[in-house]
Amino acid sequence: MRLYEYEGKALFSKAGIKIPGQTLLKTQEDVRRAASAVKYPVVLKAQVLVGGRGKAGGVKVAKNAEEFVKYANEILGMTIKGEKVAAVLAADYVRIDRELYLSILVDRSSRKYMILHSDKGGVDIEEVARESPEHIYRTPFDPFIGIKEYHAREVAKNLGLDQSSVGRVLDLLRRMHEGVMLHYSADLVEINPLAVSGSELVPVDAKVTIDDNATDAVISELKEVLGRDPSEEEVHEFNYVKLDGYVGIIGNGAGLTMATMDEVQRFGGKPADFLDIGGGAERNVVHDAAKLLLSDPDVRAIFVNILGGITRCDEVASGVVEALNTSSSRKPIVIRLVGTNEDEGRRILEKAGISYYTEMDEAAQAAVRAAGAM
Ligand code: GDP
Ligand code: MN
Repeated sequence: MRLYEYEGKALFSKAGIKIPGQTLLKTQEDVRRAASAVKYPVVLKAQVLVGGRGKAGGVKVAKNAEEFVKYANEILGMTIKGEKVAAVLAADYVRIDRELYLSILVDRSSRKYMILHSDKGGVDIEEVARESPEHIYRTPFDPFIGIKEYHAREVAKNLGLDQSSVGRVLDLLRRMHEGVMLHYSADLVEINPLAVSGSELVPVDAKVTIDDNATDAVISELKEVLGRDPSEEEVHEFNYVKLDGYVGIIGNGAGLTMATMDEVQRFGGKPADFLDIGGGAERNVVHDAAKLLLSDPDVRAIFVNILGGITRCDEVASGVVEALNTSSSRKPIVIRLVGTNEDEGRRILEKAGISYYTEMDEAAQAAVRAAGAM
């Protein structure tokens, strides 16, 4: 279960970690009222469960009330990576000297916790991991021993902080671990960026995910703190993993979706994702899935591969057509559609001028060609 930034920060606050002041805005009325109450400058941030908001234009600094109203309403109407913005967070502006990355996660392979950290935090952390991995540091610690001063010493050194910061780093790490991770059964607590602001370390962003197997007691405490049940809301009604290619993939069932990726690769294309809409998906799920890939700038063409069983081909076709009609982005879509209500599905696609295939290999080739890789 992923939490919104403002929720993660609320847990930080409960754990005694100082956070920038925050106000959540859900309506234009909230925006109008807050505009005259906040201190300027103020940061306006889209609340969505996907990352990379900064790069998508979902983080803006307002210098006055006029900018506040303009930006906040813009962000409220945005869709980021296929996800509608739920609310806007107005956060006190932090003066940033340096951006660090700091997270604690469960490392299942070593059965330990891991403090993942970098002195080059911020919106380009993935690029740092790819291009200068020597700036990404890992400090494992034993769950039965917890975080000790020597861990903090090592982390502080890697982050380019001096001796006098070790105490602050230790305090922050312990609160992240004991106060957030253990207390709320989180499997990831990530701060990116952690701002160096004068002599302080300030969490400017928060990403917290809660273990799907958290106990009822934990869930009910989260409900009380957050005012919603995080186990009720999932990011997507489908299984989605973004990859580094450019052919968007939508399939039904994990096996077929993986086979679809293999086919694309066989014809020289690189899959942009794994996206399994599952069995019996209805048109809104297909619609959301197609929208997500349409809005992803890395996706050059989309390959939808559906074997209709419980899933009905007409539902799939309608979902895809609706996504195309309501999206400003135009991309080639290749569909292979067979099974339940196949004829009706094809009629819907034909009417919308979308070509379809019945053979998977032909469709895969067409998709790779449409992506310009053949
Ligand atoms: P993300 O792109 O979804 O990870 O959103 P973040 O909350 O991490 O914000 C993206 C970037 O905006 C940060 O890396 C900062 O560079 C900048 N930013 C966000 N809040 C502040 C702030 O209070 N002060 C300053 N100076 N920059 C900020
Ligand atoms: Mn961030």
